[in-house]
Amino acid sequence: MGNAFTIHPSIEAGIKPAAPGFAGGKLYCKCPTDKVEVTISAQTAHNHACGCSKCWKPAGALFSQVAVVSRDALKVTAHPEKLKVVDPSAVIQRHACSGCGVHMYGRIENKAHPFYGLDFVHTELSDGSGWSPPEFAAFVSSIIETGTDPAQMGAVRARLKQLRLEPYDCLSPALMDAISTHVAKSRKAA
Ligand SMILES: [Zn+2]
Ligand SMILES: [Zn+2]
Repeated sequence: MGNAFTIHPSIEAGIKPAAPGFAGGKLYCKCPTDKVEVTISAQTAHNHACGCSKCWKPAGALFSQVAVVSRDALKVTAHPEKLKVVDPSAVIQRHACSGCGVHMYGRIENKAHPFYGLDFVHTELSDGSGWSPPEFAAFVSSIIETGTDPAQMGAVRARLKQLRLEPYDCLSPALMDAISTHVAKSRKAA
């Protein structure tokens, strides 16, 4: 029996490995014409499924799929005038297309933030392949906040494990360690 939910359409379609030497590509919003285009000139890292309520998700998906790339490697190359920041008070400024609602990139402007310098992107918006594949699932319990029945969480976590996406209720241990290392260093510097 299949599951009554979709983790994410691109993930359910089969996770593909990164292409060796892959150096980026273009992301497009979902408007039929005058698409916002973002050009990324590097491979992404830390790609993962995210269950938080802020990341953009395609219709029907329980999770977003989100990766990071250096902000120097990201440029808006068509229709920047269509982009609007979803929530200017959020730590991650998510730049969404005002036509179709797709989030084209998220940027942190606070220089003290552990992830400053990294932009958040959804590589499924690319027509190319070879991007870094999702490696884990973050903020899994948060999908309850956006309507998932808590009784389904066992099945959701089992499906994530089957997809080899280890489920975490915050970020992965490597990223949590990176945040704490940054905090420890900034305390020493203070
Ligand atoms: Zn659009
Ligand atoms: Zn998220």
